[in-house]
Amino acid sequence: MAQLILMPGKERAAFKNRHPWVFAGSVGRLEGRARPGDTVEVLADNLRPLGRAAYSPQSQIRARFWTFDPDESVDDAFFKRRIAAAVARRQALPELKGQQGLRLIHAESDGLPGIIADQYGDTVVVQLNSAGADKWRKAIVNALVQATCCARIYERSDSDVRGLEGLEPTVGWLHGEPKETGLSIDENGVQLAVDVVGGHKTGFYLDQRDNRAWLRSVAAGKDILNCFCYTGGFSLQALAGGAKSVLSIDSSGPALAQARANLVLNPQLPAERAEWLEADVFQALRDFRKAERSFDLIVLDPPKFAPSAAYADRAARAYKDINILGFKLLRPGGLLMTYSCSGGIGLELFQKIVAGAAVDAGREARIVRRLSGTADHPVALNFPEGEYLKGLLVQVD
Ligand code: SAH
Repeated sequence: MAQLILMPGKERAAFKNRHPWVFAGSVGRLEGRARPGDTVEVLADNLRPLGRAAYSPQSQIRARFWTFDPDESVDDAFFKRRIAAAVARRQALPELKGQQGLRLIHAESDGLPGIIADQYGDTVVVQLNSAGADKWRKAIVNALVQATCCARIYERSDSDVRGLEGLEPTVGWLHGEPKETGLSIDENGVQLAVDVVGGHKTGFYLDQRDNRAWLRSVAAGKDILNCFCYTGGFSLQALAGGAKSVLSIDSSGPALAQARANLVLNPQLPAERAEWLEADVFQALRDFRKAERSFDLIVLDPPKFAPSAAYADRAARAYKDINILGFKLLRPGGLLMTYSCSGGIGLELFQKIVAGAAVDAGREARIVRRLSGTADHPVALNFPEGEYLKGLLVQVD
């Protein structure tokens, strides 16, 4: 096994903090040969062993630790253990019982860097986002089949981050009988079709499940605006909760077509209270303002405006703009559910942006609660980067 020897003083992140990443700037030298994804031994400058990691020569994240135990082998049995443990953690949480849509593996936070696995009924969708994850594809699939008894596994490794690792996009069926249509989940009583082949990410945004359930609990009698609605997850829960009206906006035609189809899957919901608008949210909210429209509750769940800290400034402006518009459209006492899933913007900064937006909109407002991701998206204590979904529930006077 090749050895990756760190620069003097650079062992602290791994040794003391157990942070799973070794940045290119911390690497002193590589002894021996290693191809992308190969397991290397990581050593401090004084040759103290720190653990074993996946090597990724093209990435700024030059290595990702599989284990901080210098003697633990990274092999098929390793993936069986780690994946079985990740699945068992979800099974042990009563709040996740009975959920048909579930994140089974949340990458670094489950001790499995670069690996995402989402379950939709009897189908599991994996994303292998790092050179190490890519290399162990077969072991990962076998372990998932064993831990979940799923009928099929689809790979959706077509995210941008693979490019940073020097990997090509890869999609396709890895196990079982392909099933490309008719997949759906029951999310707290609402049926939602999931397009694992053509949908975003692995097909659906499971991290907002709790927030959708919360919206349902307060929706009764309200006029609700759901911005960036994707396939209508928030919208349908709002209808299930007795909303008076739900106006949903997305710029993606296919997402809206799926949202409409999802409503048809739920004949128990009052379809006549739903309106779908294919538009740019920034423009639509300005138009509503001109038309003097107002709402009791607004959801703002935009896509990642800042993939990394380098985009933070421009993204901050975009977050501020939509939040200003959101605040202006709220009736007195109205609620704003506002989110950022940008890795480059922390919760503190996001709160500042939202606070600034309220001031610019001329509204007095307070945070009623923080809205976070779900228990199947845990955040390892040593890996704050795992917390990507930040949300605030804000009430205006
Ligand atoms: N809230 C959704 C997930 C939102 S994902 C859920 O719970 O499932 C973000 C969505 O924003 C995507 O569907 C994307 O099509 C849409 N989008 C991106 N930019 C947009 C824009 N400028 N205007 C409207 N929609 C946009």
